[in-house]
Amino acid sequence: MNQEEKFMKAAIREAKKAEKIQEVPIGCVIVFEDKIIARGYNRRNIDKNTLAHAELSAIKKASKKMGDWRLEGCTMYVTLEPCQMCAGAIVQSRMDKVVIGSMNPKAGCAGSVLNLLQLPAFNHQVTLKTGVLEEECSKMLRDFFRKLRELKRLEKESAKIL
Ligand SMILES: [Zn+2]
Repeated sequence: MNQEEKFMKAAIREAKKAEKIQEVPIGCVIVFEDKIIARGYNRRNIDKNTLAHAELSAIKKASKKMGDWRLEGCTMYVTLEPCQMCAGAIVQSRMDKVVIGSMNPKAGCAGSVLNLLQLPAFNHQVTLKTGVLEEECSKMLRDFFRKLRELKRLEKESAKIL
């Protein structure tokens, strides 16, 4: 396993924490000088907060650790392509690089819907690497939504019986 895969594995472990509390499994870590300095996972429903995305929570922690809003020299590893809000925050943080597991064709803003990370008109562009442990990351999401559909189907059926 190479370094990138090792850190993506750590992001996957974060995503599993989200799954444990019935959240969509999305996780990320932020790395500085080959060390994880912050972790985050999706808590949108449980916190009832639009801002509770994995990436934002990790950025907040990383800034605290670095003692600076600038995250120069940092790399984020995230299991799913960031949304427009998180991609915006990533650019604002001046982070060097983002490594993505699976892409999100319907909402991703690192190349799918648009690529906020590399717009030449902004004052900062982020180096991008996609497809790291892609199958593992997308399978985790597919399994989650399959289980969710199954649960809903069972609920409907039990409602018919009762
Ligand atoms: Zn987001």
